Amino acid sequence: MRTLIRHGTVVTPAGASVADVLIEGERIAAVGPQLSAPADAVFDATGRYVIPGGIDVHTHLDMPLGDTVTADDFESGTVAAAFGGTTSVVDFAVQDRGRPMREAWETWMRKAEGRAALDYGFHLIVTDLGAGGLEEMDALVAEGVTTFKLFMAYPGRLMVDDAVIFRALRRTADNGGMVLMHAENGGVIAELVARALAEGRTAPKYHALTRPPRTEAEATHRALALAELAGAPVYIVHVSCAEAVEEVAQARGRYAGALGETCPQYLFLSDECYDAPGFEAAKYVMSPPLRPRAGQERLWRALAADELQVVATDHCPFRMKDQKPIGRGDFSKIPGGAPGIEMRMSLLYDGGVRTGRISLGRFVELTATNPARIFGLYPRKGVIAAGSDADVVVWDPDREVTWSAATHHMRVDYNPYEGRVVRGAAVAVWSRGARVIEDGRFVGRAGAGRFLKRAPRGS
Ligand SMILES: [Zn+2]
Repeated sequence: MRTLIRHGTVVTPAGASVADVLIEGERIAAVGPQLSAPADAVFDATGRYVIPGGIDVHTHLDMPLGDTVTADDFESGTVAAAFGGTTSVVDFAVQDRGRPMREAWETWMRKAEGRAALDYGFHLIVTDLGAGGLEEMDALVAEGVTTFKLFMAYPGRLMVDDAVIFRALRRTADNGGMVLMHAENGGVIAELVARALAEGRTAPKYHALTRPPRTEAEATHRALALAELAGAPVYIVHVSCAEAVEEVAQARGRYAGALGETCPQYLFLSDECYDAPGFEAAKYVMSPPLRPRAGQERLWRALAADELQVVATDHCPFRMKDQKPIGRGDFSKIPGGAPGIEMRMSLLYDGGVRTGRISLGRFVELTATNPARIFGLYPRKGVIAAGSDADVVVWDPDREVTWSAATHHMRVDYNPYEGRVVRGAAVAVWSRGARVIEDGRFVGRAGAGRFLKRAPRGS
């Protein structure tokens, strides 16, 4: 099967130029002006951009949390992702304390197999290094699970101490893996939460008030210092505020191994959302919480200046109907997280490229090329080039979308951006050469996605 995408403007981090893209089987066969190869299907992309399929490296599909589970599984989550122009996800397998890491990976492989419509990889959330944990990390790196997320928050459940963090960092310096850090000071936050609840402050907004920006900035600083001491890279997930981004920027000034991600919710939503009446504010309960609007321009500057390298979603949906209310009367029990997998690309395009905050090339770099480079998928993914997987998006810069729970494809009953109108959207999407989005319909197949065995650093 050969598909020719003609006359589009092909975008790479370096720039954009009008070219044809020839897809043969699962790969891109050629990119160039006026390709004359015979094709089974021709798509006219005149006036549109041709960009590499987005890579969302921070999703939580089919993830248990307490007695509930995130509202999207690998089928609904990847289908929604495809509508938004994303063609690969890297999700998180969670180690149960006292159990082998490998067991977690196998559990998540079973969740994805037969369901994922797009290619998927895994990070391993390490809750317990135990005896043999370091050797287990080596083995996982060799099998393509090259990244390990550690938590500096959630004592008693996920949090690990500085010694464990340092040990894991040192190991990844040697084995080609990388640590991802959830950077919030869990001890301080637990004290603030206990005090708020004791004083009868139980509404959703106290979730944010008990996690002030400095708790994130402190942990971010500590994570970066530990990484520098270990001689290992570290990737700070969901940097949410100016205070934390300053820490990443300072560390990068002397240490190239300091890497950071932010998410659309921190660029487009603010702590004003917690003023919503009644229990509505539970929609925005996530960690870190939404921050004051005043810090958002600092995040944008960081994205433009390469102080932050990736925009991912932390897609972690829970329904307002029956899941968020678990925490009615106690904000600390509200399942934390919000949906985002479908909106990432268009929000960033509309709020970043159209406003001039970031260039078109930087948009591609933040959503696809850098995730591929940093997470061992480049040049197989993240670029429109001969030999790469044919994960291709035709992007219409003028297509208008109104985000709403009534029309989105995520399996969750609210949209944090309800009513927001954005311009710029995916109009045609291919995943490894197979069409998955056509004329506003999903035409792919659940189960067509494959496990992405990712390469270690330096290979
Ligand atoms: Zn997360």
